[in-house]
Amino acid sequence: MKKLKNLLQQIDGKSYKGYKQIQGRYFFPSYELLIDYVQGDPFAAPSKIRVRIPHKTRAIDQEWTSTNKRKVFAEDVMTRKVSNVIQHSNPNVHGSGKSGLVVIDRPGQEILERTAVVFENGYTTVCLTVGLPANGRRINGKQADKLFFQVLPEMIEKSVLSITDKEIDEAVKLADQHQVILDKMKEEGFISFIADGATLPRASGVSDQPMKNAVAFQSPEANRVAIKLPHREEPLTGMAIRKGIALIVGGGYHGKSTLLKAIERGVYPHISGDGREYVVTDPQAVKVRAEDGRQVTNVDISPFIKNLPHGVDTTQFSTENASGSTSQAANVIEAIEAGAQTLLIDEDTSATNFMIRDERMQELVVSEKEPITPFIDKITQMRDELDVSTILVMGGSGDYFHAADEVIMMDQYVPHHVTEQAKQIAAKYPSKRQTLEESFGTLPARSFEAQSIQARKGKKEKVQAKGRALILMGRTELALDAVEQLVDPSQTNLIADLLLHLSKKGWLDKNYSLKELLDKIDQQLDEEGLASIAPFKDQHPGELARPRRFEIASALNRLRTAKVRDLR
Ligand code: ADP
Ligand code: MG
Repeated sequence: MKKLKNLLQQIDGKSYKGYKQIQGRYFFPSYELLIDYVQGDPFAAPSKIRVRIPHKTRAIDQEWTSTNKRKVFAEDVMTRKVSNVIQHSNPNVHGSGKSGLVVIDRPGQEILERTAVVFENGYTTVCLTVGLPANGRRINGKQADKLFFQVLPEMIEKSVLSITDKEIDEAVKLADQHQVILDKMKEEGFISFIADGATLPRASGVSDQPMKNAVAFQSPEANRVAIKLPHREEPLTGMAIRKGIALIVGGGYHGKSTLLKAIERGVYPHISGDGREYVVTDPQAVKVRAEDGRQVTNVDISPFIKNLPHGVDTTQFSTENASGSTSQAANVIEAIEAGAQTLLIDEDTSATNFMIRDERMQELVVSEKEPITPFIDKITQMRDELDVSTILVMGGSGDYFHAADEVIMMDQYVPHHVTEQAKQIAAKYPSKRQTLEESFGTLPARSFEAQSIQARKGKKEKVQAKGRALILMGRTELALDAVEQLVDPSQTNLIADLLLHLSKKGWLDKNYSLKELLDKIDQQLDEEGLASIAPFKDQHPGELARPRRFEIASALNRLRTAKVRDLR
């Protein structure tokens, strides 16, 4: 501690580069401070520090970390505490550039495994980003002294050392409830559960906060189930969607997409008060949409698309600029390849010609001339042959009535069970559509080769995330806008680091199928933690949060530089 104080005094007023000397480890009364990375300039990317509070100082109950889920929820609530304290404090440390900045990776509404706060080896480690104070480009040692000896200790005091056991207990209880819902879903074959009373709509298109005064979710009686939860007297009731084909219908603006969106996000847990804390979806559910313009590399889209003009081979289909239908076909195949058990599809983001083709069009355009086998002709095969379920929003066509196992109609934001009516209507107007295909087709097995990752930019290898939806790899852009279940910029950070890590680790030289590769990645993240893929060992790992294997696969699949081999 004294050492840091002296150093700051010595370098006060000197050139900013002098700050490099303070890199290192310092002991404070209630924690250790690790200054891992010192910025080169007051305007450059700020410095990275960690604060390690021994569990002797702030006890972490063993119960809070007895399962991985509990640990993630407990760390999450601690992260939010630190974040709130930082947001509400005014450090009053001034100077040029980023002087006096203090930030932690702030979670959104989802509860994700992240590196911001970790309970490990007897410590609570808090990862922060700080701007070391300067006057112009000179070190301001006095302000730095204030930052390290006043501002930071106070922030830690008010957060890690002040959070009550009760606050952490509450998060752990929610973790247990979430797990019970998931277990029950698995046992009963539910792919989604939406609790009565849930708030599905969000405050606005740019806010993930719950809408105020929204119509609370109310399950239709026929779909209602009750789940007995720990830490709760009454069983939790809500709507269960079973494995199979579920169709969500209803008039425009009656809440169909809002319901599907909540289902989509239900693959992640949400914080208490979000309104979706008891909306839980099969974690292997993947949103599939049209995404024209995307890169596709060596994907067998022949189950959906054959006989393209000019004899283009669709069993190993590649393009730098996919159309609506080819992109959606590739998205379906890739999701299944990565292990999706449920597909989530909204008409609003689908290519019409991919989803439906009616009898009139079949008569006009003979099937030899039409490359597309629409999703409607595949949906039951996927269910019966591949055990892949679909939840589909479709307000514009009744073609799916006959295929659906369950039809739910949204009416003024309230769902109704209309399966029997839909079936009667389907029987009354038998479809004259022809179903052509007999079986789904062969499944893909592809391997990504090492040259897929070309991170060289000048001499330095660089892969960098720029917000949630963009990764820069050397000079090429990897756009993830349409990967809707990638929800947090820190997940994108992790994927960026992972791309570099993969090439360093040599995993792309080994002929692993994509599925095996994703298994390997999941295993490493499970066993060695998120920080294990960060570029610098035993240092601040950066702002990382865990994506699912599907979002990792989505990034690989969209690489403009992908080199992919068919293993079949
Ligand atoms: P659809 O897909 O059926 O056309 P949306 O799901 O897009 O309809 O919903 C239309 C509008 O209604 C959106 O602005 C949405 O925020 C709002 N909305 C959806 N569900 C609710 C609800 N439960 N309470 C209040 N407003 C809602
Ligand atoms: Mg809609």
